[in-house]
Amino acid sequence: MDTTLDKIEEKIQKGQRLSKEDGMALYASNDLARIGQMADTVRKRISGDFVYYNVNLHVNLTNICIGQCKFCAFGCKRTSDKAYELTKQSILDRIAKAAEDPDMRNLHIVSGLHPDWPYEHYLDIIKTIKKTFPTLHLKGFTGVEIMHFVKISGKSIETVLRELIAAGLEAMPGGGAEILDDSIRQKLCPNKATSAEWLEVARTAHKLGIKTNASMLYGHIETKEQRINHLLTLRALQDETGGLQTFICFPFQPKNTALEDSITRTSVWDDLKTMAISRLMLDNVHNIKAYWVMLTLPIAMLALGFGANDIDGTVGGEKIMHAAGVHSQKSLSKNTLIAAIKETGRIPAECDCNSNVIRTF
Ligand code: SF4
Repeated sequence: MDTTLDKIEEKIQKGQRLSKEDGMALYASNDLARIGQMADTVRKRISGDFVYYNVNLHVNLTNICIGQCKFCAFGCKRTSDKAYELTKQSILDRIAKAAEDPDMRNLHIVSGLHPDWPYEHYLDIIKTIKKTFPTLHLKGFTGVEIMHFVKISGKSIETVLRELIAAGLEAMPGGGAEILDDSIRQKLCPNKATSAEWLEVARTAHKLGIKTNASMLYGHIETKEQRINHLLTLRALQDETGGLQTFICFPFQPKNTALEDSITRTSVWDDLKTMAISRLMLDNVHNIKAYWVMLTLPIAMLALGFGANDIDGTVGGEKIMHAAGVHSQKSLSKNTLIAAIKETGRIPAECDCNSNVIRTF
């Protein structure tokens, strides 16, 4: 018997919080089935048998970006052949087409850090979308984008967020957190928000009543200890604010990035273990998402047995992960998602961008 895992399991059964050492011991263990079983126990306790999904459209306004992050295959310079900028009309047209489905309720808006677009342009887009499609829920702008708006507008984080909320923003995605360790950020993404800035945006959003997600991009240059530290940082933020609604693990996709030749994609073993450890460490976050776009649907279904309770959505129009050569489809029908969730023995629960359940199947 593995006495270290026995002790961790005992803590879990008693509902006690796991320590950094426990997290490291879980990573050191190869008893994936047992770690998954522990995560599944905690998942059931925290979020029950519902699996959240939503009917949504991704809108990536532009891929032109001053970030130049080494792990990114999406952002590019204006001079690149693949550079694009969506016009306001083309955004509205795309949304109108997707909204022909009466179940389409959620927009997910994430983009590059455009070198010239003024902050007012983003405000105008949100206002126009909300005015044209008042019943859609708007989730948009990572902490990195918000810091970009702060820099180009000269306004404070709070003022920018208040103005976006007034324009129609209702929730924020979790991207840009990567690994909240500035020694890594300096090497991979020195041009964007620091760890402290990303956390301050989330903290301020929570204070203003906006729920945010949080992510972890893993499988590049970080150590297991830095992954655990990242989870502990998010857990401390959640203790403070309670405003994180969903955590998402993103396995790094090397294809078409500056790291393509030096790093290989993580194994499914690592993906499932990381999913389970995230569920176990983040004992105060309700939702753990298995993002099928990155994992593929079969592995996302498997991840539902390793602590996940959310599978994301139909995801029309995703560009960021597909730029890095992920093998999943560009979108899935709601019936495919419902059938996939049911096959795992769980209850599909359609939700809005704030995880409010609209209906179950
Ligand atoms: S990760 Fe975001 S900020 Fe970095 S290059 Fe890509 S789009 Fe730009």
